[in-house]
Amino acid sequence: MNNWRELATKLVEEHIAPQGVRDPQILEAVKRVPRHLFVPEEMRRYSYYDSPLAIGEGQTISQPYMVARMTELLALKAGDKVLEIGTGSGYQAAVLAEMGMKVTTLERIEKLALKAKDLLQKLDYDVTCIVGDGREGYPENAPYRGVIVTAGAQEIAEAWLDQLDEGGRIVVPLIVQEGLYRLLVRQKDSSLKKGYLDTWDDYCRFVPLLPGVKKLGGA
Ligand code: SAH
Repeated sequence: MNNWRELATKLVEEHIAPQGVRDPQILEAVKRVPRHLFVPEEMRRYSYYDSPLAIGEGQTISQPYMVARMTELLALKAGDKVLEIGTGSGYQAAVLAEMGMKVTTLERIEKLALKAKDLLQKLDYDVTCIVGDGREGYPENAPYRGVIVTAGAQEIAEAWLDQLDEGGRIVVPLIVQEGLYRLLVRQKDSSLKKGYLDTWDDYCRFVPLLPGVKKLGGA
């Protein structure tokens, strides 16, 4: 795919920016990440549509607008540490790394995690890929300035807030009714009685956050 830069630029200018994402750093990062490499061969021609796509194992690569919007809600800067729950294809992690963040990403399906790790390495993105249940976070690299959950959650795991810096944010699609989620931004603020401040954003659709780890060859 020789013209991918042109297609990525079009995706940003015709779909992502018009839906309200303004941060030039995010828009530039989306233009620079080759999304077609994160998508299976047979889906490649749709790589630069503003649409989620199947990546195998019943999972999806998120819609590019949603990747950009969630990144914007994280409000991070280069050098910040960020934890992603749900590596999937590795695309969201690549966008964060392209912006200069230090990314740790957790995936429960080992097969997807290994594939993403391999690709991110080939593209020279500095991302730590871990096979694990994202509900436990990853204390080894904590504290994080941001936690981004890219699967639909039934509830906010305690570990995410525990492993967050003061003033840091969790961005998570939280269930509102079966199959429908709403983005929640939870900012850690220990001066408040609850310890955080919640703000609600877009409604969205996501694959569900599931418990446990699925090993290669395992059940
Ligand atoms: N960020 C991804 C989108 C992935 S879809 C991308 O850019 O492509 C959501 C992913 O979350 C799936 O791969 C799914 O296996 C994973 N997931 C679901 N529950 C999880 C959990 N408890 N811990 C870690 N990953 C989980």
